[in-house]
Amino acid sequence: MEASKKKVIKITAIVLAAIIFLTAVVLSGLAIAHSVKADKAGEFALSYNGEKLNVILMIGDGMGPNHVKAAEAEYGELFFANNADQSGYVTTYSRNVFGPTDSAAAATALATGYKTDNGCVAQYKGKYLMTTAELAVAKGMATGIIATEGVDGATPAGFSAHTSSRNNLDEILSIDLFFGSNSERYEPLKAQIKEKYAYIDAFSQIAATQGKIFAAFDEIPLKADGESKPTLASLAVAALDILSKDEDGFFLMIEESHIDKCSHNNDLSGALEHVKAYDNAIRAVVEYAERIGNTIVIVTADHETGGLTYNGETASQLNDGMYTKGSHTSANVPYYVFGDIDYEFADIIDNTQIAKLCQAVISSNKSR
Ligand SMILES: [Zn+2]
Repeated sequence: MEASKKKVIKITAIVLAAIIFLTAVVLSGLAIAHSVKADKAGEFALSYNGEKLNVILMIGDGMGPNHVKAAEAEYGELFFANNADQSGYVTTYSRNVFGPTDSAAAATALATGYKTDNGCVAQYKGKYLMTTAELAVAKGMATGIIATEGVDGATPAGFSAHTSSRNNLDEILSIDLFFGSNSERYEPLKAQIKEKYAYIDAFSQIAATQGKIFAAFDEIPLKADGESKPTLASLAVAALDILSKDEDGFFLMIEESHIDKCSHNNDLSGALEHVKAYDNAIRAVVEYAERIGNTIVIVTADHETGGLTYNGETASQLNDGMYTKGSHTSANVPYYVFGDIDYEFADIIDNTQIAKLCQAVISSNKSR
């Protein structure tokens, strides 16, 4: 055989061996990731010092650990959630074998404790899955959902709807309050919404409104802008003022929806402004929770978006080229828990365990 042919065969063999090796590494990585699900860590041993316990779940859509690090570099201060009692990372894979989760499947895992296929909202193979919000309703607790996008966004829908298409308002659960944006989208649905809710579109109307509230604003700006345009932090506080009056406790889900949207466009400064707005909201919520007591605050993300890298860049070095993708990735996302929980969380937990924690806390509340 000619030397050059031998060389070709040798190189082919090396390449094949490398492919087999890499495939094995990828498969074993999947096996490790999925074994979290088999772990019975969903059995939370909780002990509290009160009878009614409130749960606040905060989700930064698309926020991976490097979004937090880059925001800390940009703003020169630590992410407030670093003060949490416990923290670590969350696996986010869905039932789709290839590729990362989408927002619908991630929201379903965080809202119900079950993995589902991409595209499904609070259901798996056509079967409804009970959401944390529904469990809270069953316990007589007050419930609220806040998102910087509309109620039909994947994350808010995951907590309130049971549809594979998120556009059917009839499917939306009777939560006590919904605060979001996209007011234009709800204009034609006003009459339908008004059958169940007080429909408002100005922030100043919230405090004076009785009963269930559906608030749709033009936008939820990064900085306070007059009476009609609230920030995520001010919306969170307004919601807590209402929900905390309920004697049976409350469940509130708060989503900063735009870290994901900016990251899809590889717009780093936009994404970081929204991480900052999320951080402001976390600070306001945790301070409120500590003031009223008996409240668990869980801060996390649904998945990472953009494959953002961070290698110690300073504020002036941050740039859009630090993104490596325009899509969701399988990177683990951070979690932070504030509150008196007699349970030591693992460094890496699965997103379904966040739902199980919320549901364990809510289940420990007495029914009316
Ligand atoms: Zn996305």
